[in-house]
Amino acid sequence: MKQLICLGIESTAHTFGAAVVTGDGKILSNERYAYTTEKGGIVPADAAEKHSQVCGKIISDALAKAKKSIKDISLVSFSQSPGLGHCLRIGGMAARSIAAIYSKPIIGVNHCIAHLEIGRLATKAKDPVLLYASGANTQIIAYEGGKYRIFGETLDIGVGNFLDIFARHMGLGFPGGPKLYELSLKSKKFIHLPYTVKGMDVTFTGLLTNLQQKFDSGKFSKEDLAFSTQETAFAMLVEVAERAMAHTGKKELLLGGGVACNKRLQEMCRIMCKERGAELFVPPNDLLIDNAAMIAWQGILQFNSGERMKIEEAGVKPYLRTDGINVGWR
Ligand code: AMP
Ligand code: MG
Repeated sequence: MKQLICLGIESTAHTFGAAVVTGDGKILSNERYAYTTEKGGIVPADAAEKHSQVCGKIISDALAKAKKSIKDISLVSFSQSPGLGHCLRIGGMAARSIAAIYSKPIIGVNHCIAHLEIGRLATKAKDPVLLYASGANTQIIAYEGGKYRIFGETLDIGVGNFLDIFARHMGLGFPGGPKLYELSLKSKKFIHLPYTVKGMDVTFTGLLTNLQQKFDSGKFSKEDLAFSTQETAFAMLVEVAERAMAHTGKKELLLGGGVACNKRLQEMCRIMCKERGAELFVPPNDLLIDNAAMIAWQGILQFNSGERMKIEEAGVKPYLRTDGINVGWR
């Protein structure tokens, strides 16, 4: 049988990506454009306009890097949920156009689940708990009873957005996560901050307000605040991830999302895993951040499990949650 080759398209938020991945999991290309702003967060309509401007080039680049033409592609997949409606529609429209013009099968996938599955592919983790720590999303996800269940999540903003807003407040620019990390390396002084874990969930806005007030008081250095921000926010994430591992009995922790690029978060997770005899799996950075390779791989998994989708059914679902998807490929 001819090997499947999938063109995957990602466009849930700031990133427009296209990638070519083979049925046996080889990533032939993984191209991306990331929308950024000088001030403030993502303006969905502006990001979508940028995505429209670059989508043709990014898709062509992905095919060229993979040394494939559209004729070689056997399947088109795209992120169908969740995300910003404006942005999702650009990737959805590109995928539907290609599928219609070239008579290719199309598969819409869930972005959060794709983070987990590309992590399993890249690290060989078998049945992990995923700590998905990104800009807009913060969830603890694991497989149980035919679905990927959410064992804990943020009740307000994602951890990345929290880091970005605080960094912007201190005048550090966007994205703030890496800038806070650099500052944190210059301090070891821990300032006590509000720590909010509610059951299995976390919240960040109270911590954010407190940090903004501390910064505005002029009594604390940026370095000490950056260090203490990471220690506090990441401890909250590690606590709920550990509780999910204890509850499910799973022995593997997998990281996903842009914030998971943070070396201190990785170190804290590694310590927790070691203490409980579990193993930590960290995919490479270009698969931690939003990327299209994971969308292509997820499309292959679903297609191989027998899933088929008509173009009329391939509408975007901005609010569909991780646990709303039936997992037919495990
Ligand atoms: P994503 O939405 O998954 O693409 O992730 C974007 C988020 O990751 C932004 O909020 C960034 O500030 C954050 N981020 C990227 N690199 C790091 C890092 N090294 N430490 C902390 N946050 C990071
Ligand atoms: Mg993501």
